[in-house]
Amino acid sequence: MSDEHRDTPHWRRWLLKPAVLPLARAFVVLVCLSLVATDAWLIWKARGVQLRDAQIETSNLASALARQAADSLKKADTVLLDLVERLQVDGTGPAQLQRLNGLMRQHVFGQAELHGLFAYDRDGNWLVTSFGTIPEGANNADREYFIFHRSHPDDHGPHIGPPIRSRTNNQWIIPVSRRLEDAQGNFAGVALATLSIGYFQQFYGTFDIRDKGTINLALNDGTVLVRKPFLESTIGSSIANGPVFKSLLPQSPVGSSMHVSILDGVERLFSYRQIQGYPLVVIAGLAKEDVLADWRADTARQLVVISLLASLLGLLGFYLVRLIKQGQKAEAELLATRDALRSFNQRLEKQALEDELTRLANRRRFIRALDDEFARASRYQRPLALVLLDVDYFKQYNDIYGHSAGDACLRAVAKAIRGGQKRPADLAVRYGGEEFCLLLPETDAAGALQVAEQVRAAVEAQAIVHAGCPWLRLSLSAGVHVLTPQVGDGPEMLVKGADKALYAAKAAGRDRVMLFDQSVEQLIG
Ligand code: GH3
Ligand code: MG
Ligand code: MG
Repeated sequence: MSDEHRDTPHWRRWLLKPAVLPLARAFVVLVCLSLVATDAWLIWKARGVQLRDAQIETSNLASALARQAADSLKKADTVLLDLVERLQVDGTGPAQLQRLNGLMRQHVFGQAELHGLFAYDRDGNWLVTSFGTIPEGANNADREYFIFHRSHPDDHGPHIGPPIRSRTNNQWIIPVSRRLEDAQGNFAGVALATLSIGYFQQFYGTFDIRDKGTINLALNDGTVLVRKPFLESTIGSSIANGPVFKSLLPQSPVGSSMHVSILDGVERLFSYRQIQGYPLVVIAGLAKEDVLADWRADTARQLVVISLLASLLGLLGFYLVRLIKQGQKAEAELLATRDALRSFNQRLEKQALEDELTRLANRRRFIRALDDEFARASRYQRPLALVLLDVDYFKQYNDIYGHSAGDACLRAVAKAIRGGQKRPADLAVRYGGEEFCLLLPETDAAGALQVAEQVRAAVEAQAIVHAGCPWLRLSLSAGVHVLTPQVGDGPEMLVKGADKALYAAKAAGRDRVMLFDQSVEQLIG
């Protein structure tokens, strides 16, 4: 683990990884998208539930209305059957007709949906009616039901005709009729019961089918008998071309479908039901607009909330990403600053241990190295050598050539001394002024003398002219001291010995190397 990461908590280190940024972005987008997608799915599901509920509602309504219509027709037809029986068996004499009129009144009075009862002879002339008085010259031979029965001798069932306006009181009515026959089976007239469309209208009015819902009672051929909402023009009109009659009814007597009404162009969810035993169909429809009105309002509110939530999440995510970005930037800047500081410190440290003029180790570094190497030599009982070097007649050199030429000369000498470092542990030092030294661990006297002589020869080889020197060239003298430290010895002993040897070299005429030994000790004292 690198230094910069050692103290950083694990989570923070993870956050600072470059891959985190695209991951954080993707996470934010994913959270927002999944929120929107989940809500869209819920909204869609709620829509399905509304439509399914509406389908159940229309289907139940169609079923209830079919039952009511069948009951009304059954009642009217039962009365008709009774009427036919009496007319055919009792005849149409004035007394019989008088009695029949009373009976008819009772039936009509007792049944709200029954508008009136009538009987016509073979020519369409009125025989008797529940209304009592027969209008002068009244004849119904032109009516659809009359023509139907006259031309259908084999049809003895009830016939339901298209809606018509009553000739008695101008009301809209549904004619339900049966054929009258004489004893030979010839056409003898028609018995008619009329159902009040107003009654159906009123009954249908009690159902809540919202703003644009419809209820239709129609003949099997698509002729509208009753319609809610009531519109006079739709009574008797045909919806035979609508989807219910065209495609659905031929396949199934009961069903539901969503389609656009051919009467008013409104899209509705319709449920229809064929009325059992009669050529009638009930169709109940709820407008899609009404069915989905609450859902639309809910959805609009939900969309506002979800948009706010998604925006908030997006904003939070945006700030999160920005924070990570800023954190990463700050961390990078911090690392860059720390690196710069570290290299600056290293440079400072190096400068603190290095001589500025010659780039050799300075005296401070030498003292540290000497202490370390002396301790090591003492511990392993190994020889440690020190070569002390001093430029000869350097004061004169400065005087003759100037101080900066003296500096250049010192740099040339330093180069030769640096050449004396043979092993990694060897250290070339500018000891001070024009004095240098070489610290050579694991080196005996012979080795140290050899190195010192090499350096001296290297300076000689540089052939730097020095007019102030008897041999007219720059030279240096060296003192060498080697010792294997014994108990009680200190590093200063090594320096002292080398210094004495140097002094001896100077005294002996300069431009030479001297080893500290007994004779030097005696000479210098
Ligand atoms: P000796 O042969 O006995 O060593 O004679 P010397 O002239 O070298 O004697 P000494 O050691 O007294 O003189 C050292 C001179 O080195 C003194 C000073 O002018 C010169 N010196 C010391 N440091 C520098 C430096 O950094 N640059 C220059 N140009 N001269 C220096
Ligand atoms: Mg000197
Ligand atoms: Mg000198």
